[in-house]
Amino acid sequence: MANLNIALIKKHDATFYYSLWNGDYPYNHMTAVDGTIAAGGGMEYPNVTIIGESMMPFALETVIMHEVGHNWFYGILGTNERDHAWMDEGINSFNELRYILTKYPERSLLEGEGLVDIMNRILGTEELTPKAQYELGYFFNAYTNKDQPLELTSEDYSEFNYWGMVYEKSAIVFYYLYSYLGEDLFDKCMKKYYETWKYKHPQPKDLRDVFQDVTGKDLDWFFDNLIKTTDKIDYKILGLNKSQNTVKIKNMGQVNSPFPITVIKNSNEKSTFWVEGFSADKEALQPIG
Ligand SMILES: [Zn+2]
Repeated sequence: MANLNIALIKKHDATFYYSLWNGDYPYNHMTAVDGTIAAGGGMEYPNVTIIGESMMPFALETVIMHEVGHNWFYGILGTNERDHAWMDEGINSFNELRYILTKYPERSLLEGEGLVDIMNRILGTEELTPKAQYELGYFFNAYTNKDQPLELTSEDYSEFNYWGMVYEKSAIVFYYLYSYLGEDLFDKCMKKYYETWKYKHPQPKDLRDVFQDVTGKDLDWFFDNLIKTTDKIDYKILGLNKSQNTVKIKNMGQVNSPFPITVIKNSNEKSTFWVEGFSADKEALQPIG
């Protein structure tokens, strides 16, 4: 599959990208059925997705892609959505975000629905990207500390948090891990996880063990903090030393995660690199080039 020209792939994109990023779809068909549905835009079943009405082609595509994607997680891997919703709905939503950013990198949130200007005015933003939808869904309750950890059973969530945490927070924390590890290493982990555990009902520890083994990195910050708690990543720049090209950074939060630094030189030369994390309340001097 890696040799195919991705630009030429027009149809069957959900099965194509989910197979490319997670491992091949093992069956010979996938069907989207236009049917009566009371549960929102779509509902997943093995090999079949039921779709209802969508307001626009983009919404229809993302619904089909999302529901098709469930086949990899609750279907083929066989994770338990009631006990560990983030392993199905959450990782699926990360793939959904990645799909949108891959296929429509220039797209604004709500494009074509006439709401972008209103949202920008309310939120004081200039441009809402697709990723902002996921961030806003999480921040809405995290901002007032009404957020809940990802490792809860489904019935323990408030109605809003089942969406804001399980779908939206999962998508952005997995995107964070993906950005830190890089595409190649992240994909290696997901493929190893899929190959090792398909049809075997993996638990959270099984996913964690694969990521630890494949990366050789300490990922406690991800699996202990971001998945199991509501701890927030919060690094602060205390000062910039231009002559020595260093910044002084303090960890103001509770998570010793890695974090990205973006340096802008000559007003438009941007470069981003990741720095390994350090403990809460510690300060560190970081070279920036
Ligand atoms: Zn879903």
